[in-house]
Amino acid sequence: MFTGQSIRVAVAAQGIVELCFDARDGSVNKLDRRTIDELRAATQVIRGVQALRAVLVTSAKEAFIVGADIFEFPALFAQAPQRIEAFVAQANEVFAAFEDLDVPIVTALNGLALGGGLEVALASDARVMSEAAQIGLPEVSLGLFPGFGGTVRLPRIAGAAAAVDWIGTGKLQSAQRALAAGVVEKLVAPAALRQAAIEVLESLVRSGEWRARRERRHGPFAADATVFLEARRALAPAATHQPAALAAVELMERAAGSTRDQALRLENAAFAQIAKTQAAASLIQLFINDQAIRKKAKEYAQAAPKARRAAILGAGIMGGGIAYTAAARGIAVTMKDIRQEALDAGIAEARRLLSKQVDSGRMQPEQAEHVLAAIRPTLDYRDLGDVDFVVEAVVESMAVKKSVLAEVEQRVGAGTVLASNTSSLSISEMAGALRRPASFVGMHFFNPVPQMPLVEVIRGSQTQEQAVAAAVGFASVLGKTPIVVRECPGFLVNRILMPYMLGFLRAVRDGADYLEIDRVMEAFGWPMGPAYLQDVVGMDTLLHVLETISAGFAERMRCDFPHAVELLVRNNRLGQKNGVGYYRYESDPKGRARKSIDPATATLLAGIRTGGRGTFNDQELLDRLMLPLIIEAARCLEEGIAASAGEVDTSLVLGLGFPRHAGGPLKYADWLGLKQVVAQCEKYAALGPLYMPTEGMRRAARDGTTFH
Ligand code: NAD
Repeated sequence: MFTGQSIRVAVAAQGIVELCFDARDGSVNKLDRRTIDELRAATQVIRGVQALRAVLVTSAKEAFIVGADIFEFPALFAQAPQRIEAFVAQANEVFAAFEDLDVPIVTALNGLALGGGLEVALASDARVMSEAAQIGLPEVSLGLFPGFGGTVRLPRIAGAAAAVDWIGTGKLQSAQRALAAGVVEKLVAPAALRQAAIEVLESLVRSGEWRARRERRHGPFAADATVFLEARRALAPAATHQPAALAAVELMERAAGSTRDQALRLENAAFAQIAKTQAAASLIQLFINDQAIRKKAKEYAQAAPKARRAAILGAGIMGGGIAYTAAARGIAVTMKDIRQEALDAGIAEARRLLSKQVDSGRMQPEQAEHVLAAIRPTLDYRDLGDVDFVVEAVVESMAVKKSVLAEVEQRVGAGTVLASNTSSLSISEMAGALRRPASFVGMHFFNPVPQMPLVEVIRGSQTQEQAVAAAVGFASVLGKTPIVVRECPGFLVNRILMPYMLGFLRAVRDGADYLEIDRVMEAFGWPMGPAYLQDVVGMDTLLHVLETISAGFAERMRCDFPHAVELLVRNNRLGQKNGVGYYRYESDPKGRARKSIDPATATLLAGIRTGGRGTFNDQELLDRLMLPLIIEAARCLEEGIAASAGEVDTSLVLGLGFPRHAGGPLKYADWLGLKQVVAQCEKYAALGPLYMPTEGMRRAARDGTTFH
């Protein structure tokens, strides 16, 4: 009857036509431009069918429809708002024409139906769902809201409260929740789905009740004003940076009294606005980065055998965390230390993390026992056994690491890959202690390991591809996001962080108030301001990192003035670890550090100040810290430290908490415009080489190109 690339239409039973989503060229159905065009054509075909009684909507794939094709978004949203509005208006005409076919329509939701996928289903008169399926409108996670009628149909089908919740949170909904919310009519076992959907169709045909449902979807919906009021209140704080959820609620409130077609017009216009926001551009780019990184990791992982047994050397904060994470992912781990207390502490920490999992219902007690039993603590190398992968996480000393690595190398097979979790030492230098330097790689985990998603995989000068592949594979098995970087002081993340910290130290030296800086940077979206971050990292640790990295890039990162970190270390103000740094810390009843302002800090800092006090406005503070960070990120890309702008940006988002709505330093620069960024840099040229844009940035500013 109709056979397209995405949609097939055929007779299913007497008078019943089946519209089946079945993309020819992929494992999933997407609601891309082609599919929307075919839905238009299919609707026309169906309209012409003689003696038509009903339409059944199905999917031939495991998931129903996974959503719009996000890869189409950047080009689409680069257009003027009017063009975006016209695009969604056209798509919505297609959906509405389908919805208005003069027979009942039922959708069989066999699997995941997300975003546009669920919006298609909402344009039918009833939905029957497999008990195993999940549905949702996750657009807010991309800085958007539903633009194919979701904000119009969901409140008219399920009521304002459910619509506000589903669209505002973007959460995936189980079949039970979908049923409870009235979004679906019936839940059935997957095998019974088709038959159940046909039965619902037949009953709608018989009763004629579908006409009343349609009328409801065409008219206004009644809503309790407090639902919107409360939602607006709850969503307002986050809306400064990510306005989509609040905008969706306001849109639904505005359109409550409208007919379907009026409401669709409001949605079209509002969608075009939200699609042009910084948050949408950034979050979409982060999604695209993530896809590319996953693909790369998969390719790497395929090039190396999967690790089954691993050894972790050092049972401290990092070693313990890596051992726990590996064991929880099914890897047998031998955890080696030189102190029994460290091993005991490592096991105790694993036990604590596991009982948290059990208490929250995420893990069965037997499973937790199993994970714990997979970690074998030892003081003796002879217990290492036949391991495929070794992660060294002993103290941060070149001499100690070299001797530990040389020793372990003699005790493992020739195929075993060794990795060091150093945070600042040279992988290439460490490799000098080894007989097989090609099988040695850096692996920079972040603290706390179970929560932090990023792992920098560092390719030393002698590291071979096979070792890189093994490390990427190991990180992937641990559920982490591995990003391969070329060796340089600080690797990727800490190297880019340092100019930002130096910008901070200079600003403080020149008279800026650290409290003001923290306020401005937190308002920008950082989880914590730089002074607070330094307190959390620990001033002595930071001083060491600062000295290592600035020595590596002395031409621009030399810290040749008396600065706050040095001063605070000298005054034994090490940060959270000893209760006072820039701020003062006390434990609250739950044992968490609570920070308060310490007036003594300002007095202390006055001793190294050269400029007048508090002479900077917010924009200047932002520029003084963010420009050096952007420049260093651009430099890392130009030097090939990371292979792509996406990898640079995602590393900063995952490793440092760079605000997601700004998408990472390079996406942020794209948003500001390179021309503007370079002009700002020139304004600060007197501050020295930290503010000097790279050649690539100047070129991009001239040519009007972007990083992404
Ligand atoms: P830690 O002091 O908590 O643990 C180090 C452990 O290594 C101790 O238990 C110690 O007994 C053990 N050890 C010392 N010599 C050993 C040897 N010869 N053989 C076996 N074990 C030995 O330190 P940490 O914070 O876990 O740091 C470990 C490594 O990870 C360091 O290189 C550090 O730079 C790096 N790192 C730390 C962080 C962090 O935030 N803590 C983040 C990333 C990387």
